[in-house]
Amino acid sequence: AGAFLSVRDLHVSFRTEDGVVRAVDGLSFDLERGSTLGIVGESGSGKSVTNLTVLGLHNPMFTTVEGEILLEGQELTTARESELERLRGNKVAMIFQDPLTALSPYYTVGRQIAEPYMKHRGASKKEAWSRAVEMLGKVGIPNPKERAKDYPHQFSGGMRQRAMIAMALVCDPDLLIADEPTTALDVTVQAQILDLLKDLQQEFGSAIIFITHDLGVIADMADDIMVMYAGGAIERGSAAEVLRAPQHPYTWGLLNSMPRINSDVGAPLAPIPGSPPSLLKPPPGCRFHPRCTFQDRVGGGRCVTERPLLAPDRASACHLTAEQKRTIFIEEIKPR
Ligand code: SF4
Ligand code: MG
Repeated sequence: AGAFLSVRDLHVSFRTEDGVVRAVDGLSFDLERGSTLGIVGESGSGKSVTNLTVLGLHNPMFTTVEGEILLEGQELTTARESELERLRGNKVAMIFQDPLTALSPYYTVGRQIAEPYMKHRGASKKEAWSRAVEMLGKVGIPNPKERAKDYPHQFSGGMRQRAMIAMALVCDPDLLIADEPTTALDVTVQAQILDLLKDLQQEFGSAIIFITHDLGVIADMADDIMVMYAGGAIERGSAAEVLRAPQHPYTWGLLNSMPRINSDVGAPLAPIPGSPPSLLKPPPGCRFHPRCTFQDRVGGGRCVTERPLLAPDRASACHLTAEQKRTIFIEEIKPR
Protein backbone atom coordinates (compact mmCIF):
# COMPACT_ATOMS: atom_id res chain seq x y z
CA ALA A 1 0.00 0.00 0.00
CA GLY A 2 1.26 3.49 -0.86
CA ALA A 3 1.42 6.53 1.37
CA PHE A 4 -1.68 8.48 2.32
CA LEU A 5 -0.59 11.25 -0.04
CA SER A 6 1.98 10.53 -2.68
CA VAL A 7 3.30 13.15 -5.10
CA ARG A 8 5.41 11.79 -7.97
CA ASP A 9 7.51 13.84 -10.37
CA LEU A 10 5.10 16.76 -10.30
CA HIS A 11 5.60 19.49 -12.89
CA VAL A 12 3.41 22.59 -12.86
CA SER A 13 3.89 25.35 -15.40
CA PHE A 14 1.99 28.53 -16.24
CA ARG A 15 1.77 30.38 -19.48
CA THR A 16 2.43 34.08 -18.96
CA GLU A 17 2.90 37.01 -21.31
CA ASP A 18 6.65 36.63 -20.92
CA GLY A 19 6.83 32.89 -21.46
CA VAL A 20 6.37 29.67 -19.57
CA VAL A 21 7.00 29.72 -15.82
CA ARG A 22 8.02 26.33 -14.44
CA ALA A 23 6.71 26.84 -10.94
CA VAL A 24 7.20 23.25 -9.85
CA ASP A 25 9.80 21.25 -11.68
CA GLY A 26 10.00 17.59 -10.76
CA LEU A 27 8.78 17.25 -7.18
CA SER A 28 8.18 13.99 -5.32
CA PHE A 29 7.19 13.42 -1.71
CA ASP A 30 5.06 11.22 0.52
CA LEU A 31 2.91 12.12 3.48
CA GLU A 32 1.79 9.54 6.01
CA ARG A 33 -1.63 9.62 7.63
CA GLY A 34 -1.77 11.88 10.68
CA SER A 35 1.75 13.26 10.28
CA THR A 36 2.92 16.82 9.69
CA LEU A 37 5.13 17.84 6.79
CA GLY A 38 6.65 21.30 6.91
CA ILE A 39 7.38 22.76 3.47
CA VAL A 40 9.87 25.60 3.79
CA GLY A 41 11.00 28.06 1.16
CA GLU A 42 11.06 31.65 0.01
CA SER A 43 8.20 33.04 -2.03
CA GLY A 44 8.46 31.77 -5.59
CA SER A 45 9.93 28.44 -4.47
CA GLY A 46 6.81 26.60 -5.62
CA LYS A 47 5.58 25.66 -2.16
CA SER A 48 2.14 27.25 -2.47
CA VAL A 49 1.66 26.18 -6.08
CA THR A 50 2.25 22.57 -5.09
CA ASN A 51 -0.55 22.71 -2.60
CA LEU A 52 -3.01 24.55 -4.77
CA THR A 53 -2.41 21.83 -7.32
CA VAL A 54 -3.13 19.14 -4.72
CA LEU A 55 -6.48 20.84 -4.17
CA GLY A 56 -7.11 21.30 -7.88
CA LEU A 57 -7.30 25.07 -7.36
CA HIS A 58 -5.01 26.00 -10.24
CA ASN A 59 -6.52 27.59 -13.33
CA PRO A 60 -6.62 24.83 -15.96
CA MET A 61 -6.71 27.40 -18.78
CA PHE A 62 -3.19 28.61 -18.13
CA THR A 63 -1.66 25.78 -16.15
CA THR A 64 -0.11 22.53 -17.23
CA VAL A 65 0.17 19.81 -14.62
CA GLU A 66 2.19 16.65 -15.18
CA GLY A 67 3.05 13.85 -12.81
CA GLU A 68 0.99 12.13 -10.15
CA ILE A 69 -0.80 13.26 -7.02
CA LEU A 70 -2.28 10.22 -5.33
CA LEU A 71 -4.55 10.69 -2.31
CA GLU A 72 -5.22 7.25 -0.88
CA GLY A 73 -4.48 5.91 -4.32
CA GLN A 74 -6.89 8.28 -6.07
CA GLU A 75 -5.26 10.30 -8.86
CA LEU A 76 -6.04 14.00 -8.39
CA THR A 77 -4.29 15.53 -11.40
CA THR A 78 -6.89 14.00 -13.70
CA ALA A 79 -9.86 14.07 -11.31
CA ARG A 80 -13.01 15.80 -12.49
CA GLU A 81 -13.97 19.13 -10.97
CA SER A 82 -17.04 17.54 -9.35
CA GLU A 83 -14.81 14.99 -7.64
CA LEU A 84 -12.41 17.69 -6.39
CA GLU A 85 -15.45 19.64 -5.16
CA ARG A 86 -16.40 16.60 -3.10
CA LEU A 87 -12.92 16.39 -1.58
CA ARG A 88 -12.38 20.07 -0.82
CA GLY A 89 -13.59 21.19 2.59
CA ASN A 90 -14.41 17.57 3.35
CA LYS A 91 -11.48 15.18 3.07
CA VAL A 92 -8.97 17.92 2.32
CA ALA A 93 -9.20 21.43 3.78
CA MET A 94 -7.03 24.50 3.67
CA ILE A 95 -6.24 27.46 5.87
CA PHE A 96 -4.60 30.56 4.49
CA GLN A 97 -2.54 33.45 5.74
CA ASP A 98 -5.48 35.81 5.37
CA PRO A 99 -8.77 34.54 6.83
CA LEU A 100 -10.65 37.09 4.74
CA THR A 101 -9.89 35.06 1.62
CA ALA A 102 -11.82 32.17 3.18
CA LEU A 103 -14.51 34.04 5.11
CA SER A 104 -17.19 36.07 3.37
CA PRO A 105 -18.06 39.45 4.90
CA TYR A 106 -21.75 38.92 4.10
CA TYR A 107 -22.58 35.91 6.25
CA THR A 108 -22.29 35.20 9.94
CA VAL A 109 -19.29 33.22 11.08
CA GLY A 110 -21.58 30.45 12.34
CA ARG A 111 -23.31 30.08 9.01
CA GLN A 112 -20.02 29.85 7.14
CA ILE A 113 -18.78 27.08 9.41
CA ALA A 114 -22.14 25.30 9.18
CA GLU A 115 -22.26 25.40 5.39
CA PRO A 116 -19.63 22.76 4.52
CA TYR A 117 -21.12 20.51 7.19
CA MET A 118 -24.53 20.68 5.52
CA LYS A 119 -23.03 20.26 2.06
CA HIS A 120 -20.73 17.33 2.76
CA ARG A 121 -22.46 15.64 5.66
CA GLY A 122 -26.06 16.21 4.69
CA ALA A 123 -26.72 17.73 8.12
CA SER A 124 -29.85 19.80 8.75
CA LYS A 125 -29.53 23.53 9.30
CA LYS A 126 -30.05 23.07 13.02
CA GLU A 127 -27.52 20.24 13.38
CA ALA A 128 -24.97 22.18 11.35
CA TRP A 129 -25.46 25.31 13.44
CA SER A 130 -24.84 23.46 16.68
CA ARG A 131 -21.77 21.81 15.08
CA ALA A 132 -20.54 25.32 14.15
CA VAL A 133 -20.99 26.50 17.75
CA GLU A 134 -19.18 23.39 18.97
CA MET A 135 -16.29 24.03 16.56
CA LEU A 136 -15.99 27.68 17.64
CA GLY A 137 -15.70 26.40 21.20
CA LYS A 138 -13.00 23.90 20.18
CA VAL A 139 -10.88 26.62 18.59
CA GLY A 140 -11.10 28.70 21.75
CA ILE A 141 -13.64 31.38 20.88
CA PRO A 142 -15.22 32.47 24.17
CA ASN A 143 -19.01 32.45 24.37
CA PRO A 144 -19.32 30.59 21.03
CA LYS A 145 -23.12 30.44 21.08
CA GLU A 146 -23.34 34.21 20.83
CA ARG A 147 -20.22 34.80 18.76
CA ALA A 148 -21.46 32.42 16.04
CA LYS A 149 -23.99 35.11 15.15
CA ASP A 150 -21.26 37.70 14.53
CA TYR A 151 -19.90 38.70 11.14
CA PRO A 152 -16.16 38.29 10.41
CA HIS A 153 -15.48 42.03 10.82
CA GLN A 154 -16.65 41.78 14.43
CA PHE A 155 -13.81 39.33 15.15
CA SER A 156 -10.17 40.27 15.83
CA GLY A 157 -7.48 38.99 13.43
CA GLY A 158 -6.56 36.13 15.75
CA MET A 159 -10.21 35.18 16.23
CA ARG A 160 -10.81 35.19 12.48
CA GLN A 161 -7.87 32.82 12.11
CA ARG A 162 -9.47 30.55 14.71
CA ALA A 163 -12.82 30.75 12.89
CA MET A 164 -11.13 29.78 9.63
CA ILE A 165 -9.53 26.79 11.37
CA ALA A 166 -12.97 25.82 12.71
CA MET A 167 -14.35 26.00 9.18
CA ALA A 168 -11.50 23.91 7.79
CA LEU A 169 -11.90 21.20 10.43
CA VAL A 170 -15.69 21.06 10.61
CA CYS A 171 -15.89 17.95 8.41
CA ASP A 172 -12.93 16.28 10.13
CA PRO A 173 -10.60 16.30 7.07
CA ASP A 174 -7.85 13.70 6.62
CA LEU A 175 -5.54 16.37 5.23
CA LEU A 176 -5.21 19.98 6.30
CA ILE A 177 -3.08 22.30 4.20
CA ALA A 178 -1.95 25.37 6.13
CA ASP A 179 -0.30 28.02 3.94
CA GLU A 180 1.58 30.53 6.11
CA PRO A 181 -1.37 30.53 8.54
CA THR A 182 0.34 32.62 11.20
CA THR A 183 2.48 34.99 9.16
CA ALA A 184 0.16 37.98 9.51
CA LEU A 185 -0.26 37.60 13.27
CA ASP A 186 1.82 39.03 16.10
CA VAL A 187 4.19 36.66 17.85
CA THR A 188 1.97 35.91 20.85
CA VAL A 189 -1.12 35.14 18.78
CA GLN A 190 1.08 33.17 16.36
CA ALA A 191 2.22 30.91 19.20
CA GLN A 192 -1.37 30.44 20.37
CA ILE A 193 -2.54 29.44 16.89
CA LEU A 194 0.32 26.95 16.52
CA ASP A 195 -0.55 25.41 19.89
CA LEU A 196 -4.17 25.23 18.83
CA LEU A 197 -3.26 23.45 15.59
CA LYS A 198 -1.16 20.94 17.49
CA ASP A 199 -4.00 20.21 19.93
CA LEU A 200 -6.55 19.89 17.16
CA GLN A 201 -4.29 17.55 15.23
CA GLN A 202 -4.23 15.28 18.29
CA GLU A 203 -8.00 15.38 18.43
CA PHE A 204 -8.82 15.11 14.71
CA GLY A 205 -5.83 13.05 13.57
CA SER A 206 -5.49 15.00 10.32
CA ALA A 207 -2.28 14.97 8.35
CA ILE A 208 -0.98 18.53 7.96
CA ILE A 209 1.08 20.16 5.25
CA PHE A 210 2.41 23.32 6.84
CA ILE A 211 3.84 25.81 4.38
CA THR A 212 6.13 28.53 5.67
CA HIS A 213 9.15 30.66 4.82
CA ASP A 214 10.25 30.45 8.45
CA LEU A 215 12.01 27.28 9.64
CA GLY A 216 11.54 28.38 13.24
CA VAL A 217 7.74 28.30 13.01
CA ILE A 218 7.60 24.58 12.26
CA ALA A 219 10.59 23.53 14.34
CA ASP A 220 8.47 21.91 17.03
CA MET A 221 5.44 21.15 14.90
CA ALA A 222 6.63 19.14 11.88
CA ASP A 223 7.53 15.45 11.82
CA ASP A 224 9.28 15.91 8.49
CA ILE A 225 10.66 18.92 6.69
CA MET A 226 11.05 19.49 2.98
CA VAL A 227 12.98 22.56 1.85
CA MET A 228 12.06 23.92 -1.57
CA TYR A 229 14.06 26.18 -3.83
CA ALA A 230 13.20 27.39 -7.33
CA GLY A 231 10.50 24.82 -7.98
CA GLY A 232 12.12 21.73 -6.51
CA ALA A 233 12.86 20.03 -3.21
CA ILE A 234 16.50 20.52 -2.22
CA GLU A 235 16.46 18.86 1.18
CA ARG A 236 14.17 16.47 2.97
CA GLY A 237 14.30 14.55 6.21
CA SER A 238 12.89 14.21 9.69
CA ALA A 239 12.54 17.58 11.41
CA ALA A 240 15.23 16.54 13.89
CA GLU A 241 17.69 15.65 11.09
CA VAL A 242 17.06 18.75 9.05
CA LEU A 243 17.29 21.11 12.01
CA ARG A 244 20.22 19.42 13.78
CA ALA A 245 22.33 18.38 10.80
CA PRO A 246 21.14 20.14 7.64
CA GLN A 247 23.02 19.13 4.50
CA HIS A 248 22.27 21.74 1.86
CA PRO A 249 23.95 25.14 1.60
CA TYR A 250 20.55 26.78 1.13
CA THR A 251 19.23 25.21 4.33
CA TRP A 252 22.39 26.44 6.10
CA GLY A 253 21.48 29.91 4.91
CA LEU A 254 17.92 29.55 6.20
CA LEU A 255 19.18 28.42 9.60
CA ASN A 256 21.63 31.28 9.80
CA SER A 257 18.97 33.84 9.03
CA MET A 258 16.76 32.50 11.82
CA PRO A 259 16.75 34.46 15.06
CA ARG A 260 18.24 32.30 17.80
CA ILE A 261 16.73 32.35 21.23
CA ASN A 262 20.02 31.51 22.93
CA SER A 263 22.29 33.66 20.81
CA ASP A 264 23.91 36.80 22.20
CA VAL A 265 21.59 39.74 22.25
CA GLY A 266 22.01 41.70 19.08
CA ALA A 267 23.91 38.95 17.26
CA PRO A 268 23.47 39.84 13.60
CA LEU A 269 21.46 37.55 11.40
CA ALA A 270 23.06 36.44 8.18
CA PRO A 271 20.52 36.55 5.37
CA ILE A 272 21.27 34.59 2.22
CA PRO A 273 22.76 37.03 -0.29
CA GLY A 274 20.99 37.47 -3.61
CA SER A 275 17.46 36.48 -4.46
CA PRO A 276 15.65 33.43 -5.84
CA PRO A 277 15.99 33.00 -9.61
CA SER A 278 13.34 33.76 -12.19
CA LEU A 279 11.47 30.61 -13.11
CA LEU A 280 11.06 31.89 -16.66
CA LYS A 281 14.71 31.18 -17.23
CA PRO A 282 16.14 29.27 -14.29
CA PRO A 283 19.92 29.04 -13.99
CA PRO A 284 21.53 25.92 -15.47
CA GLY A 285 23.00 23.24 -13.22
CA CYS A 286 22.22 23.68 -9.55
CA ARG A 287 19.57 26.37 -9.31
CA PHE A 288 21.15 27.67 -6.14
CA HIS A 289 24.59 28.14 -7.71
CA PRO A 290 24.36 31.91 -8.29
CA ARG A 291 23.98 32.32 -4.52
CA CYS A 292 26.19 29.50 -3.29
CA THR A 293 29.68 30.02 -1.83
CA PHE A 294 30.60 26.31 -1.84
CA GLN A 295 30.97 25.66 -5.56
CA ASP A 296 34.78 25.58 -5.37
CA ARG A 297 34.59 22.64 -2.99
CA VAL A 298 32.69 20.67 -5.63
CA GLY A 299 34.99 21.80 -8.40
CA GLY A 300 35.08 21.15 -12.13
CA GLY A 301 32.26 23.62 -12.73
CA ARG A 302 29.83 20.83 -11.99
CA CYS A 303 27.51 23.10 -10.01
CA VAL A 304 26.93 25.18 -13.14
CA THR A 305 26.41 22.33 -15.58
CA GLU A 306 24.81 19.45 -13.71
CA ARG A 307 21.56 19.72 -11.78
CA PRO A 308 21.76 17.77 -8.52
CA LEU A 309 18.52 15.93 -7.83
CA LEU A 310 16.96 14.72 -4.64
CA ALA A 311 16.98 10.95 -4.76
CA PRO A 312 15.03 8.90 -2.23
CA ASP A 313 18.28 7.64 -0.69
CA ARG A 314 19.80 11.09 -0.58
CA ALA A 315 18.55 13.77 1.77
CA SER A 316 19.87 16.78 -0.11
CA ALA A 317 20.22 17.83 -3.72
CA CYS A 318 23.80 19.09 -3.72
CA HIS A 319 27.01 17.83 -5.34
CA LEU A 320 29.05 18.12 -2.14
CA THR A 321 29.94 14.69 -0.74
CA ALA A 322 28.20 13.44 2.39
CA GLU A 323 31.48 13.92 4.26
CA GLN A 324 31.83 17.51 3.03
CA LYS A 325 28.24 18.28 4.01
CA ARG A 326 28.85 16.98 7.49
CA THR A 327 32.17 18.68 8.14
CA ILE A 328 31.32 22.02 6.56
CA PHE A 329 28.21 22.24 8.72
CA ILE A 330 29.97 21.28 11.93
CA GLU A 331 33.16 23.30 11.40
CA GLU A 332 32.04 26.34 9.45
CA ILE A 333 28.31 26.91 9.72
CA LYS A 334 27.24 25.87 13.18
CA PRO A 335 29.72 27.99 15.20
CA ARG A 336 28.59 31.23 13.53
FE1 SF4 B 1 26.15 24.89 -3.89
FE2 SF4 B 1 27.01 23.28 -5.81
FE3 SF4 B 1 25.71 22.26 -3.73
FE4 SF4 B 1 24.43 23.73 -5.54
S1 SF4 B 1 25.39 21.74 -5.88
S2 SF4 B 1 24.24 23.90 -3.36
S3 SF4 B 1 25.97 25.25 -6.08
S4 SF4 B 1 27.68 23.29 -3.70
MG1 MG C 1 2.72 31.51 -0.74
